[in-house]
Amino acid sequence: MEPEHEDKSPTGDKVMIPVRCFTCGKVVSAAWMDFKERIQLEDPAKVLDDLGVERYCCRRMLLAHVELVDDLSPYY
Ligand SMILES: [Zn+2]
Repeated sequence: MEPEHEDKSPTGDKVMIPVRCFTCGKVVSAAWMDFKERIQLEDPAKVLDDLGVERYCCRRMLLAHVELVDDLSPYY
């Protein structure tokens, strides 16, 4: 049995995006799961507007995020 120590979203998915925007401190992690799913079908700019992520400092948090946690965790 693996210990349950990862942060989980309410839906049980692993969340490793920074919780807040590094620049202005707005909470961006709440928008991450929605953003990740909706950009499969929709324009990322529209999705960000829709989720209320307006400042470009916050938008880059979501746009530039690369999920590496699953690739790296075997080496931890
Ligand atoms: Zn920001």
